[in-house]
Amino acid sequence: MAYIARDMPEEKSILLRMRGRVQGVGFRPVVFRLAHELGLRGWVRNDAAGAEVALAGRGGDIAKFRAELPGRLPAAADIQSVEELSAPAELPAGFEIRTSAAPDGARVAGILPDLATCPDCLREILDPKDRRYRYPFANCTHCGPRFSIIEALPYDRGNTTMHAFRMCPACEEEYRDPRNRRFHAQPNACPVCGPSLSWMRADGTVLEVRDEALRAAAEAIRGGWIAAVKGIGGFHLMVDARDGGAVRRLRERKKRDEKPFALLFPGLDSIRAACEVSAAEQEWLESQAAPIVLLKKREGAALAREVAPGLPWIGAMAPYTPMHHLLMRELGFPVVATSGNLTDEPICTDNDEARARLGGIADFFLAHDRSIARPMDDSVMAVCGGEPVMMRRGRGLSPCSMPMAGAPDGWVAAGAQMKSVVALTAGGNAVMSPHIGDLDHEGAVRLWERAVNDLAGLHGLEPRAAAADLHPGYASTQAAAEWGVPVAGVQHHHAHIAACMAENGLEGPVLGIAWDGTGLGTDGTIWGGEFLVCTRRDFRRAAWLRPFPLIGGDASAREPRRAALGVLREMGSGHPPPGFSRAELAVLDGMLREDFNVVRTSSAGRLFDAAASLLGVCQKMSHEGQAAMRLEALAGEAEAPAYPFGWRGAALDWAPMIEAMLSGGEPPAVAAGRFHATLVEVMGAAAKREGLRDVCLSGGCFQNRRLLAGAWRRLREEGFRVWSHREIPPNDAGICAGQLAVALARA
Ligand code: ZN
Ligand code: ZN
Ligand code: FE
Repeated sequence: MAYIARDMPEEKSILLRMRGRVQGVGFRPVVFRLAHELGLRGWVRNDAAGAEVALAGRGGDIAKFRAELPGRLPAAADIQSVEELSAPAELPAGFEIRTSAAPDGARVAGILPDLATCPDCLREILDPKDRRYRYPFANCTHCGPRFSIIEALPYDRGNTTMHAFRMCPACEEEYRDPRNRRFHAQPNACPVCGPSLSWMRADGTVLEVRDEALRAAAEAIRGGWIAAVKGIGGFHLMVDARDGGAVRRLRERKKRDEKPFALLFPGLDSIRAACEVSAAEQEWLESQAAPIVLLKKREGAALAREVAPGLPWIGAMAPYTPMHHLLMRELGFPVVATSGNLTDEPICTDNDEARARLGGIADFFLAHDRSIARPMDDSVMAVCGGEPVMMRRGRGLSPCSMPMAGAPDGWVAAGAQMKSVVALTAGGNAVMSPHIGDLDHEGAVRLWERAVNDLAGLHGLEPRAAAADLHPGYASTQAAAEWGVPVAGVQHHHAHIAACMAENGLEGPVLGIAWDGTGLGTDGTIWGGEFLVCTRRDFRRAAWLRPFPLIGGDASAREPRRAALGVLREMGSGHPPPGFSRAELAVLDGMLREDFNVVRTSSAGRLFDAAASLLGVCQKMSHEGQAAMRLEALAGEAEAPAYPFGWRGAALDWAPMIEAMLSGGEPPAVAAGRFHATLVEVMGAAAKREGLRDVCLSGGCFQNRRLLAGAWRRLREEGFRVWSHREIPPNDAGICAGQLAVALARA
């Protein structure tokens, strides 16, 4: 029978089930084209967990298909695994793209974040001959909204907020043409059939529509007005960043004292004119995530002082939708682009809600009629030694998935209280929600609940087990207790280090240096300057910063002068505490004597506050981390020798440092540098005493780039392997990942 095989080679068929980022990235068109080229029959379709490809043809061609596919995929796509199954009995005569399989079982397809405008789409909206000339909502399979418009999986137009728009014949043709860049681009739209802009007053009166609306917005911003502009994840408040009066007015109306505002620039050239930009920073600015990147401001940059008072950095971002490109080209100068909310409240997404809530802040609204499925703030990050330091993962960087091998589905981590983020296990990954915010505000607690339901709902899962912080006062801990599933309590700093271990694939034991502002310790005191020997399951508190008293409850976390007072009293120093009247001091000292409303803390963050107060940098903070940021800024980049420090048992004693600092008579900038250098030496000393090869750095203090870079350098010099975060924020946003890692290890 050999002659038959030569003439009519035996046909093989196969079904490939692919997992990873295969939806919403132009995956199916690539499969379609490759199958056509190779003359294979069959179909491709999305399913709830990824995509399925049924193939029939010569074995060699199928092998070729499998070998070539990965190299053909667009940058945003990523196949994590391929499962080989037997093909269905009947396959079509050609190759087709089929509608999605009905969802059943856990839906775990990698959900894509929103992608900034690609070069092809940008070229089209700037080309007067193109049918999408000046169209603010152009997108294609390589770019455009994703997570912000997805209401359900699988990722098909009907499951996005674009279902409200019916494609015109021209768009429909692109959508159906496998050679077109918009083949199965779910949010495909054009001026004829897609979303459009309107320019209105807070009372809802529409003043202009479409291109006239965009031009009117530019005109108003140029004139110093405050505009609320609807973007991808919610409304921004925009104002001319060069106009001090306008920026001041925005601060007053938004009730935001000094917290720096992020800026949106027309493009990279204008960012360079105002800031120093390294190669790595440029790469992030131009990435499809398009985050806010913290950059060093240039001397004499044409920006209002009110943008980021007292700080040498600017949070800068580039336009990431066609609308932002068009608006910023019209303007030609940077604008403040801050979340459309009152300070600490969640960002506004809905048009009516935005007019109601922002009516007292914004003079005008630039809105559009494409709904936002879930609110997302802009992402914020910095670059340290070429490596990314994430501070907030929102638009463009959410959802964030991290492999957690063997994890059962449906485990939920509640996160922390500040900078809360929740996480869910699905398909062997920990999927983290966008940044939610501080749960001290009712709006944020509602958003937190919504984020849990959203993650679980999207993946078709019910919470089966939970992990939460030990702090009984955290809103997240309290809510998790009400789910009616077993809750694993995870110590805050163990969670920080476990997140770092999970991100770097470490099982431990490691020495974890967990430095942050606050977290409940197992002894009932407030920890935050911890050296923990950790496995994912357990930890032992090996060393800590010498504890000191904080007087006056919550206020002590907002007033660096109270941290300074605690430090001075702990040392028995005669140095006068800065920033208090004599009467205030008498009251606080009385409280300390009576041990009334006094907590003891080993917090590194509060030690930063104390130093900032003693150096006269900051006595009361308008926002979290302000004192530490000012101290880092004051230290600059100049080298500085460490101060002395010592050990008291297992506690690292900072008292010799504070004493030297107070008696040194050095300029504050030098003292600030020496303070950082001392803390780096403290880390080195603790690591040497413990002698473990792997050292993990986590906690909000490691957003301080001088401290982070110093720790890397010093610990590596001593021969340690140093691990820190790249994907997960070192601050409390990373807690949820660590909670899952610990809970899973214990199970
Ligand atoms: Zn595009
Ligand atoms: Zn159209
Ligand atoms: Fe923390």
